[in-house]
Amino acid sequence: NFLSRMSHEIRTPLNAIIGMDTIAAQSIANPERVADCISKIGISARYLLSLINDILDMSRIESGKMLLKNEKFLFRDFIGGINNMIYNQTFAKGLDYECTVSSEIAEAYIGDAMKLQQILINILGNAVKFTEKGKVSVDIHPLSGKGSQSVLRFTVNDTGVGIGENFLPHIFEPFEQADGSSTATFGGTGLGLAITKNLVDLMGGSIKVRSIVGVGSEFTVDIPLTIDESVLVQPKLEHNFD
Ligand code: ADP
Repeated sequence: NFLSRMSHEIRTPLNAIIGMDTIAAQSIANPERVADCISKIGISARYLLSLINDILDMSRIESGKMLLKNEKFLFRDFIGGINNMIYNQTFAKGLDYECTVSSEIAEAYIGDAMKLQQILINILGNAVKFTEKGKVSVDIHPLSGKGSQSVLRFTVNDTGVGIGENFLPHIFEPFEQADGSSTATFGGTGLGLAITKNLVDLMGGSIKVRSIVGVGSEFTVDIPLTIDESVLVQPKLEHNFD
């Protein structure tokens, strides 16, 4: 099923590229027309590349080749990178953006910061994409934990179009989009949340979604992480350059 959906999804932009190439070849004497074709070829080609990158991610996950890193990362840097990107996207659309971080969040954690960023950017990116006015927000706080083990809860809210009851159970399935024309309008592949769900599972976490059509959506992601206690107990080194 995945292969047949994937082939179909790949064929659509490829057909557009071939069609535009034919028109351009027949319109060499008309530079404006050729320029228009080249621009459309570029759009389809870039979409094709994002689709193939997503498919490669899916196949890496499914074949067990997606390995998680266990590296120390500073929470401030991690969330700063996300905020920068999402703030710019919300600003461009005239939306408000709010990020609330609990004071109980540790300074540093051990885990795969890049993949966790990929998860959050995907959910926040969707929140921006499917919201025309109002606000996108993310709240981060620790749930529970024993010793250095902690579970972080990320709650992403938007005041966007919402997700219908019929579609909600399929939202994490590959190539599923609420609206068949979504790819044409928003440029998504329909693989983002399937990859997100797989990454969350790989990390031993969970993801849930609640939504009301016309009101907005809420995605809740729980991820277990290890607190890097060395940052808390290690005194700051005094450097003396005399
Ligand atoms: P896409 O590349 O289409 O965004 P995703 O897998 O990320 O693919 O999302 C699948 C579909 O779920 C979207 O096309 C959209 O219909 C719906 N969706 C995801 N997030 C939201 C949201 N925050 N608000 C409304 N609909 C959403």
